[in-house]
Amino acid sequence: MIIAIDGPAGAGKSTVAQKLASQLGLNYMDTGALYRAVTLLALRNHVELEDEKQLARLARDMKLTVDHRDGKRPPDRVFIDGEDITKAIRSNEVSEKVSRVSSHRAVRSQLVKKQCAMAEGGGIVVEGRDIGTVVFPQADLKFYVTASANERAKRRYEEMKKEGHGVSLQSIEREIIRRDHQDSTRATNPLKQASDAVLIDTTGKSIAEVLGILANIVREHTGRAGNDIEA
Ligand code: C5P
Repeated sequence: MIIAIDGPAGAGKSTVAQKLASQLGLNYMDTGALYRAVTLLALRNHVELEDEKQLARLARDMKLTVDHRDGKRPPDRVFIDGEDITKAIRSNEVSEKVSRVSSHRAVRSQLVKKQCAMAEGGGIVVEGRDIGTVVFPQADLKFYVTASANERAKRRYEEMKKEGHGVSLQSIEREIIRRDHQDSTRATNPLKQASDAVLIDTTGKSIAEVLGILANIVREHTGRAGNDIEA
């Protein structure tokens, strides 16, 4: 079984995708981590963000592994060539630049190949921007998870405050709107809801509520017994 979860930045996709995967005993893949890893490598190696060929080479050659921490989530730990880059790929600099890197067709085609290899055998919840539309159009279930830009910014602001980062709510909201615009207007595989995806608006809803909604839909789809999935 493949469950595809797409949506804009900060909609709560990661949290619900990880929880859903863990409750269903499925694997989980955060495809954004791959685009972030290429961006980190580009910054470290001083590769121009418009140099599609070099960026695609970085994407092709990087040895990326993910440690799922035996279901202890979040977060999964991400490594390139043995180096733990979990924190580095979440830096402001990477977040600001990643949409430019991910707009290149050759980069996307390398990373889609990697995503297909990582999901081989199925049994996985895959989260991203183009999973239901391009990477796994044959997914058994597709969700498009979103929330208002203001609510998404507030959630990220609270997270960052907890981690001790001093950023303003306004700057986070601006950044989220800018990234969504870039992701949804790029020529190759833009962020968009698949025609057969279930739209979930998480504005004003808790993680438990959203998870409950998703779990119900999965249950209806698979005919699982109610106590297999807890909200
Ligand atoms: O999900 P996350 O915010 O970590 O994704 C970072 C960026 O990676 C997105 O803003 C987007 O530019 C890119 N991305 C993508 N396609 C995916 C996943 C992420 O283009 N499937």
